[in-house]
Amino acid sequence: MSQPFPRTLLDFQRMFANERACSNYLERVRWPDGFVCPGCDASGEAYRFENRPAVLRCRHCQRSTSLTAGTVMHATRTPLQVWFWAAYLVTTQTPGMSALQLQRQLGLSRYETAFQMLHKLRVGMVRPDQDRIGAQWPIEMDEALVGGQTRGEGKGVHHMTYVVGAVEVRQKQSQRGRRAIYAGRLRLCALKDRSKRSLEAFATKNIEASSHITTDGWHGYNGLAAMGYHHESVVLHGDTEKVEKSLPMIHLAFSNLKAWLLGTHHGVSAQHLPAYLNEFVFRFNRRFYPMTAFASVLGIATRVTAPTYDEFYAGEDSSALQEP
Ligand SMILES: [Zn+2]
Repeated sequence: MSQPFPRTLLDFQRMFANERACSNYLERVRWPDGFVCPGCDASGEAYRFENRPAVLRCRHCQRSTSLTAGTVMHATRTPLQVWFWAAYLVTTQTPGMSALQLQRQLGLSRYETAFQMLHKLRVGMVRPDQDRIGAQWPIEMDEALVGGQTRGEGKGVHHMTYVVGAVEVRQKQSQRGRRAIYAGRLRLCALKDRSKRSLEAFATKNIEASSHITTDGWHGYNGLAAMGYHHESVVLHGDTEKVEKSLPMIHLAFSNLKAWLLGTHHGVSAQHLPAYLNEFVFRFNRRFYPMTAFASVLGIATRVTAPTYDEFYAGEDSSALQEP
């Protein structure tokens, strides 16, 4: 879609003002050059129905085609406009949304409807990003303990789990002509331990061969060079200032992750942690690019012609990611 994604609530409201506008959008996304019947390949204007805007009928073979087929909106009685709003809210609100918040904001009469919608929209977010990061961008890699207090368990430290993370350190020219770094793509994974074996398995799966990787001095990283990475180990001795200087991006990601887990979810059990990590990574990696997030959760991402990652990162500032 060449159409810019609405940046404000008001723009969104104007763009998707009614069911017809939403179904027109789905139609343009699926057939940018005009309707082609999936049954008989005939092109040309389809029949439309006033009371069923999400259905097109072929004038040639009379077959009806649903615009929501293959999307999360298929076969639900909830209006498209409500789905679009839900996808917008879920993907643009930094901390994410609870079913109760969604129910209230969309004025849904049943909590169950909001819960089911949220569940379906989250499927697109908890699918892990599979491609490997790095290559021309240097990587910061580190591990952190997350988890802790779970709702109803009172104070104290419970269920801490190791999470390993790797993030691309990208550069851009700031407006004053200075070089500024910002976090590119992120990968996170829950680990049983932070052994050499676990960390190396994570690297192999998530980081392009021969990438430059900076870590702290933990011996679990000692084998990275032998694996073909350009490994730089920084001995930190718990020196906070040095940590911020050497591994600023992955620590920013970790502190945002911890704040999100505690603030929004009041702690997360080890069992559910992987899904939450994937959701966090989904949000993090698409934070400058709401169109991709919106289309992904609705299940229409494969139909949307998206600009490349570099296109949408060009000239953006990273203020969407809050400093803790
Ligand atoms: Zn046809």
